[in-house]
Amino acid sequence: MLFLQGMRKLFTHIEQLHGIETSIASQKSGKEMNAVESLEKAWLLVEQGKIASWGSMQTPMPGADEEINLQGLEVLPGLVDSHTHTVFAEPRSGEWEMRLKGISYEAIAEAGGGILNSAAKLRSMDEELLYEQSLWRVQRMLEHGTTTLEIKSGYGLDTASELKMLRIARRIGNAVSATVKTTFLGAHAVPPEFKGNREAYVQHIISEMLPAVCEAGLADHMDVFCDRGFFTPEETLQLLEAGAEYGLPAKIHANELGITGGVQAAVKAGAWSADHLEHLGEAEIDCLRNSAVMPVGLPGTSYFLGIPYADGRRIIDAGLPFALASDFNPGSSPVCNLQMVWSLGCSQIKLLPSEGFNAITINAARSLRLENSTGSIAVGKQADFWTTETRNALQSVPYFFGINHAESVYIGGDKI
Ligand SMILES: [Zn+2]
Repeated sequence: MLFLQGMRKLFTHIEQLHGIETSIASQKSGKEMNAVESLEKAWLLVEQGKIASWGSMQTPMPGADEEINLQGLEVLPGLVDSHTHTVFAEPRSGEWEMRLKGISYEAIAEAGGGILNSAAKLRSMDEELLYEQSLWRVQRMLEHGTTTLEIKSGYGLDTASELKMLRIARRIGNAVSATVKTTFLGAHAVPPEFKGNREAYVQHIISEMLPAVCEAGLADHMDVFCDRGFFTPEETLQLLEAGAEYGLPAKIHANELGITGGVQAAVKAGAWSADHLEHLGEAEIDCLRNSAVMPVGLPGTSYFLGIPYADGRRIIDAGLPFALASDFNPGSSPVCNLQMVWSLGCSQIKLLPSEGFNAITINAARSLRLENSTGSIAVGKQADFWTTETRNALQSVPYFFGINHAESVYIGGDKI
């Protein structure tokens, strides 16, 4: 192992090395989002799992312990999926059929479907089986070029089951070489035991679930579904303040179902990101300006539910940063492929291909405050990248949608 740690690996004959950064930006906003630096006919040096340097094949190459000839493939930085619900018990394809017959997502949720359906299945599922199925899904994500991801709880909705979900997310983080961050989302919905008494459930989260999760060290962030029919902005702030006392940074599900104050709550809570944003007024855009909240769009959800898309075009044109994530979950966004999310960002939100690329790399990393370790090809960052045979990848990957363009995926310079 000692030998491996000091190892220098030189990747040569890269047709295009995309997403290089010479001056490191913590995020890209407004017009900067359309800029991606690439180098043609390049080599890339990895040392101790980190990016050490790169250069043109026409310049002298450094010595290395191992040389890997990439034979004309293009290289892109590892993708970052900052919002997923990957630990779930069962697909909700039956509900999907109901929606195809014209029943709304909200009506299905009111009838005990939706998140509560997922919670019932998850509570009764054996932990080992749940782990194995969730791990399998994460492996599919990695095959598509994702090298950093976040996983939320929120299908447990009682202390034991929320702990079960987060334990599984942590175990997955230990089992794969990708970086896995976890988020406590006890406030995803009100469970049946607290039906009609949301206030008591909020208190239950604060006094019981949150302390248990934090004492076990299972969460890196806290999230609340702040929306119509779920939690109010006041409850959201109360919950996130309690999380902050345990040192948990905030993330928020905001404005999926309407203009409901979620963005304002995110700014007030100093959240790292406000995710969804399918409904957005001028007041929300103004509020996001002068804040460090990353706006995150989840176009897989809009595609699958047939609801409006987060207007990332407007957000970027207002000079703000914008990130994209999969929202991978069994009810509203069964997509684990960020290349597809990139494509939806372009075709549906009218992001330019480079803007979409920055939205699933550096800005997504920023929404997890991991911009110093991943999200671009920069000296000192983790050597997380993927190769593709696809020519002109920055345009062609989102253009040829629905296929996996990744030939190989490397994490810390090692092929997975
Ligand atoms: Zn979500």
